[in-house]
Amino acid sequence: MAELRWGAATDAGQLRSQNEDNQFAGPGLFVVADGMGGHLAGEVASEMAVNQLSERLRDENEHTLDDLVQAIDDANTDIYDGSVTNPDQAGMGTTVTAIAVVADPHDGEAFGVANVGDSRGYVMRHGRLRQITIDHSFVQELVAEGAITRDEARVHPRRNIVTRALGIEPLVRVDSWTMPIIRGDRFVLCSDGLVDEITDQHITEILAAHQFDPDEAAQALVDAANEAGGRDNVTVIVIDVLEGDDPPDPTEEFDVIPLWIDDDDEDTGEVQIIADPSDPAEADVGGTTVMPAVASRTDATPTGSPTLPDGAEPAGDGAVAVATPPETAPRDRPVRRRIARVARFLLVLGVAAVIVLGFAILAAWARQGYFVAFDDDGQVGIYQGRSVLWFEPTLEATGPFDREALDEESIDLVYGEPNFESQGSAERYVAERLSPTTTSTTTTTVPSTTAPAVIEGETTGEATADGDGEPAPDDTTATATTSGG
Ligand code: MN
Repeated sequence: MAELRWGAATDAGQLRSQNEDNQFAGPGLFVVADGMGGHLAGEVASEMAVNQLSERLRDENEHTLDDLVQAIDDANTDIYDGSVTNPDQAGMGTTVTAIAVVADPHDGEAFGVANVGDSRGYVMRHGRLRQITIDHSFVQELVAEGAITRDEARVHPRRNIVTRALGIEPLVRVDSWTMPIIRGDRFVLCSDGLVDEITDQHITEILAAHQFDPDEAAQALVDAANEAGGRDNVTVIVIDVLEGDDPPDPTEEFDVIPLWIDDDDEDTGEVQIIADPSDPAEADVGGTTVMPAVASRTDATPTGSPTLPDGAEPAGDGAVAVATPPETAPRDRPVRRRIARVARFLLVLGVAAVIVLGFAILAAWARQGYFVAFDDDGQVGIYQGRSVLWFEPTLEATGPFDREALDEESIDLVYGEPNFESQGSAERYVAERLSPTTTSTTTTTVPSTTAPAVIEGETTGEATADGDGEPAPDDTTATATTSGG
């Protein structure tokens, strides 16, 4: 068993007559539960949660993270059933944040951490305080979206709205993960009555001022919350790890920012610090999605001025009001934002690719094919490509005739600007189809040596010219078409 030392303190606060928080601190189990639902309801719910966990996990037997989650699931069922069957306790619910020493998935022991609602877990290491749980609250969603800061969340009028709690729905989703047991770590579990009154910085200072006595530290934190107003019940457990693994080098640690990493629900492996909400509870219910309930914690505001979400009706006796669930669970938001970012990047990439590809196709098309036409000097020329956007055809070769030398039919043919797939076909066409007026009546086969040399420096190998103007049998009629312009 890990060697731990701990202390706990709780108080009703300055304004409330009863304390609906409950807690348990024992050798291998630490639980804070913040009940909601008013007198004889909230305190019942939080007590049921704490009792369920302590009865199941307090003994010396070896427990697993699954045992912890299962106990929370069962507590949820008990509280939900109780609120349905007992009108006095209708709508009761509770947060639960727990740390248990569990069998390490790999070897030895680890801390199993589980959380539902807005009670918190922190770890202090190397003098830095880091939140290890994610609040299931409306304001946490706003923080995750970047709509408000953490400081603004502390004083936000809707800070009492939790998006997940035990007892509200038949099934609950439990955040759970393991953390190594590291010598020198100091854990803090607390209800929102602490963090709504004093800042994380203030908590850090108080913990440092009571470095060696967790009992004193817990009491000092409760006192500080009361001095700051004490508007809610406040509960604090401080746990010091006296023996455990060696602490990592401070420079090797990454920041603990309560952001959902790309979590894989299959992965139940150990996580260093960042909360990994691998969710065995979700797997246990066969893929059923549990919509988070929204519960207004009327108990968290001074009596007489309950804060309710829009559209929520105060239940009788100031009990929990259940409003419509939010569209998504808070854990989905950052992941969704990440997906949106990736999608935007891919879109830009896709558009760029289409532009580049389109340009390449246009360039290839603009340079494709040949045609025969008179050049500026009236000489028969063979051109490559076509006129499109900033592409212009280029003169590749000049034939032996100019306009003056050709007969009427040949001139018409050239004005028709016939197209060819290759320069060779165009050269053959010029050699075979165009006839000078002076030889227009000659029908004899011209020997290749006397045939008009079509191209400077080009050998066509096809120097026969038909004087009758008819295409030769091997003419490229298949590719010779009349240009439309
Ligand atoms: Mn509270």
